[in-house]
Amino acid sequence: MNAAERFVRVCCEIGNFTEKLTGVSVVDAYFGPEELHPKTLSAEKSTTDLVHDIHQTFDALCDEIDDPLRLEYMMGELHSLNAVVDWLSGKDITYSELVEGLFHISMKKFSENEIDKNIELLTDLLQSYPGDSLHDKIQRFGKEGEITGDALQHLLTDELQKQSIKIGQEFREKIFTLMGASVPDNGVQYEAVRDVPWGGYNWYLGEFKSLNQLNIDRRFNKDNLQSTLYHEYEHHVSNLWREKAFLNTRNLELAVVPLHTGRCVISEGTADTAKDFLSVSESDSRIVVLNALTPISQMTGINAAILLNDEGKSVEEAIEYLINRGYRTREAAEASISFISPTTKTGKINLFAPYIFTYFIGRRDFVHPSFLKAVQKDVLPEFFKTIYMNPYSGSSVTWNKAFEWM
Ligand SMILES: [Zn+2]
Repeated sequence: MNAAERFVRVCCEIGNFTEKLTGVSVVDAYFGPEELHPKTLSAEKSTTDLVHDIHQTFDALCDEIDDPLRLEYMMGELHSLNAVVDWLSGKDITYSELVEGLFHISMKKFSENEIDKNIELLTDLLQSYPGDSLHDKIQRFGKEGEITGDALQHLLTDELQKQSIKIGQEFREKIFTLMGASVPDNGVQYEAVRDVPWGGYNWYLGEFKSLNQLNIDRRFNKDNLQSTLYHEYEHHVSNLWREKAFLNTRNLELAVVPLHTGRCVISEGTADTAKDFLSVSESDSRIVVLNALTPISQMTGINAAILLNDEGKSVEEAIEYLINRGYRTREAAEASISFISPTTKTGKINLFAPYIFTYFIGRRDFVHPSFLKAVQKDVLPEFFKTIYMNPYSGSSVTWNKAFEWM
């Protein structure tokens, strides 16, 4: 068994391990050979065996992988998966050690001062908007864009498919043309789901197809929905290129897409920067407001996760914080809790509890500043080629090295 095979095997077995313990596999997508598919591999390995396999894989990678970026990428991913196993096997690790171990970023609370600055910005934008207070204005703003009833039905059965085809075209016309390259795309199917901890999810199915699910327990707002569509479509696009790279190189590790690694920081970062990549109209005043509201919502979401997981605060305290400082409705605050809470409703470990950091940090510390630099230096074609055609750039561990040329 070569190093890449070992890597895929241990990744998929860890996926089976996390699925057994939490109900969620860390293997988010797989499009490799059948004999290494998670379904055909063991779901019964002990943590001792898994850790042993991880260490053997580390040694094999060092011996066999020559490309330094590829090696660093794979080592980083494996370190993260090792942290997943340590965490779920009950090792005594703090939340901050966990976030750092998984994502190679530090767990930092945002100061109330920093949040206040963002609130001031939003207050200015909404100055002439009707309402007694900022809370009131934001609630009205949300209500105004809300989609319910027949409109929601039409949206789910018809409109989303059309919008996703349009976004696919935008990627081809504005980005792939710049890159002078193309990738097969068999499209995205939309599906409405309930009783899940997230708002939207891109399931990459392989063979250049995705299933995007939207959680209809949450209230739909046309502005947020637009952001979600771009976000999820970018995940699809990024996996299209990954699958193409896998078919071209036959580098097995590209066929497995793990959650909870340095890859996620960049993946969520590029997804959250997709609207910037495609210069989606900022002349729309609702988008301007939404863009000012989003960082407040993301920063307070991260702070609430720290309250719950690191500071031992109660769910009710976290909800109050999300309402008071994040300007959420109680309903939205309660919905956010299911993603960041240490345990699920059924009392299992919530695998997503540390995940919230990836979005904001991925965009702010990695993808967005590099994108701005590429615009300023007039090197967007090379920038997009690095992101989409070099899959080993896509990790918080390798990002800076991959962009050294810039
Ligand atoms: Zn995402």
